[in-house]
Amino acid sequence: MSFQDIKGQDKPIQILKEYIKHSRLTGSYLFVGEDGIGKKLVAKTLAKALNCENETLDPCDRCASCLKIERDQHPDVHCLDTEASDSIKIEYIRQLQKDINLKPYTGEKKVFIIDDAHNLTAEASNALLKILEEPPEDSLIILISAKPALLFKTIISRCKMLRFYPLQRTKLEEILRRDFHLDNNPAHYLAYFCEGRLGRALKLKDTDILKEKNRIIDGFALARRSDLENLPIENRDNVRSYLNILAAWFRDIYFVKIGIPYGELINLDRKDELLKVMSRYALFDLEEILNSLSNSLLYLEQNINTKLLLSNLRWSLIPLPLENRTLRLSPKAIFL
Ligand SMILES: [Zn+2]
Repeated sequence: MSFQDIKGQDKPIQILKEYIKHSRLTGSYLFVGEDGIGKKLVAKTLAKALNCENETLDPCDRCASCLKIERDQHPDVHCLDTEASDSIKIEYIRQLQKDINLKPYTGEKKVFIIDDAHNLTAEASNALLKILEEPPEDSLIILISAKPALLFKTIISRCKMLRFYPLQRTKLEEILRRDFHLDNNPAHYLAYFCEGRLGRALKLKDTDILKEKNRIIDGFALARRSDLENLPIENRDNVRSYLNILAAWFRDIYFVKIGIPYGELINLDRKDELLKVMSRYALFDLEEILNSLSNSLLYLEQNINTKLLLSNLRWSLIPLPLENRTLRLSPKAIFL
């Protein structure tokens, strides 16, 4: 992929191209922005641009160097991927320190990309700081993070920061229809469910997400049947996806109730059902449900016991009929 193929990140790309043009691309960079919007793609494409055999501002994506970088096989381009919950340990930074002091094998510039840099341990951060103080001129370090608040401030201060933003949802919907040939319903759902994050939408587009979300809506939200008991609780990704689908559904009911234009609905394909079920909930109920879902998603990130989390959540999702409201028990104590 070359720069011109990357959608929606024109501004950071333009800045980087200016740096390349004036040979000012040196030292360390920090790419900041939500997950799934193209930060790593831009970092890898930048590595290609710096090493492309055709020496164009936009890499050719065809030469041996570009192809090696694409396949993560270029000896001068090192890309560290970790799972979201993994930490980046000192051993990796020690290796980086050795590699960065070697001459480039074949390329012009050595590039070190550290994705999810907020996962650096304190020890690794301190070791990296020393490298960032005086990085060799033939090297470039790119840190990528969706959670820069977790990075050492001293690390941030030694990097040039570039901000990345998600696309406007209408724009992403258009791209999904035009460039990826999606029908109207999936294009709209993915653009809004993924909040404008192209990478996330592309990951989901070949899955059963639409069928799955409609199954959940049919089973739970319409028939008032909860699948929470049957969720494979050991798979946190499934639980997260289920909670996000439910949150989108209840957010839509809230939007319909307060009169937000239908085009803003995530589940626009289920507009008729949304209009039908909205009288079942008071705004207060919806606020409580959305709060519970959002808290549960936060707890999920903190590795709380999933069984406990879901059993608590079950209480919150189906409001009692209005006449029984005074009998309602609060499930909050479980987290206190
Ligand atoms: Zn090339």
